[in-house]
Amino acid sequence: MRSLSLHLITTILFLIFGCSSTKETSQEEIKGLPYDPPGSTVTTNKTIYSQHKRTFLFSGSKLYVSNEFPGSRLNDFYQEDDSTFIAVIEPENSPINNSAWYSFKIWSEMDREINLKILYKDGSHRYIPKLSYDGNNWRPIDTNYYFNDTSKGIANLKLKIKPTSLWVSAQELFLSDDYESWIDELMTKSFLKKSVIGESAKGRAINKIEINEENKDPDLVFIIGRQHPPEVTGAFALKSFVEKLIDDSELSKNFRKRFRVIVIPLVNPDGVDEGHWRHNSNGVDLNRDWFAFNQPETRLVRDELLKTAGQSQSKVKFFVDFHSTQQDVFYIIAKDSSLDFDPTYETTKSWLNRTHEIFPDYKLNVDESLNDYNAPTSDDWAYNVFNAPALTYEIGDETDRALIRKICSGAAEAMMEILLKAKK
Ligand SMILES: [Zn+2]
Repeated sequence: MRSLSLHLITTILFLIFGCSSTKETSQEEIKGLPYDPPGSTVTTNKTIYSQHKRTFLFSGSKLYVSNEFPGSRLNDFYQEDDSTFIAVIEPENSPINNSAWYSFKIWSEMDREINLKILYKDGSHRYIPKLSYDGNNWRPIDTNYYFNDTSKGIANLKLKIKPTSLWVSAQELFLSDDYESWIDELMTKSFLKKSVIGESAKGRAINKIEINEENKDPDLVFIIGRQHPPEVTGAFALKSFVEKLIDDSELSKNFRKRFRVIVIPLVNPDGVDEGHWRHNSNGVDLNRDWFAFNQPETRLVRDELLKTAGQSQSKVKFFVDFHSTQQDVFYIIAKDSSLDFDPTYETTKSWLNRTHEIFPDYKLNVDESLNDYNAPTSDDWAYNVFNAPALTYEIGDETDRALIRKICSGAAEAMMEILLKAKK
């Protein structure tokens, strides 16, 4: 009896661990994108390393440096000589995509100039520093005061330090509080509704904006953004795109009579507020979790979109996920080669052609090479589930901010025109 029960226990243990390790292996086999670091598609929880929040004081130099604010990233800071200081930046965990986010503030008891080197662990310098003396108004650093030493992966800055704080940040800070204020400002319009679809792993709200003019049987457009924390230009793009859909133009009014738009602008609030390079608070790249759905944020968004589409998933007419990379690029799903005429592909192309007509001088980069329909990304998921035009809209890290507003507003206009032309 005793040996039989031991045998049974062993068998059960083997089954449990055997099964879970099989599942793990199959998840590793899911293909990510060519530039992904190893392990990106394994989306079970990973350990992350929190930065120590503190204010450094260099009493001899009367200089202060702090990461004690949301969105910050500064892991260490030390003095090299009288006027040279070193900032050390580390990611939340590794291996990780080189989205080397940093953000900290510096002040001193008297006006002075310092040299600052930014060094990275597990990455290299990527973003041109954005400076602000009030935390709201930002400008890129003057190129005469900045050198990106690509051979070493470090940045050299010359900074004017004052008794008031100087924020030095990879991009403008656009945090979960800024999204809340933006959404609240929009809510003066009666056809908009704000709600919370659920909470992130750390308990932050994930908001939904619904644009709906009381039509009974609307077609659907889904817009999501900010799965990746440093992708602030993607956030600006989403904002301009959405603001076009809710303006007072005839086109937008007609569009809202036929379409309901669901916007989930901030999918990864933990990563954004904790100054992460790429991942959520479970150390996972959310845009590689659209197959396994191991993370609460991706599950929430998936469930919300599926619930909205309900039984009639064919009513979803467009899906777009906003991101940032080195340049402006539309990653679209390639044409289905088994079809002579692929309607979702044709809709996407018509939209891009119309956008190009509106901005003939703007170079529209379109890339269909990354999509084989089976990557664990949001656009491949939306394409497969809804059979709708689906894409990842990437904005360049350093694209002029006014140009982002102009192009993305025009791209929204083009989308409305193309979708309104299609038969219901
Ligand atoms: Zn991204």
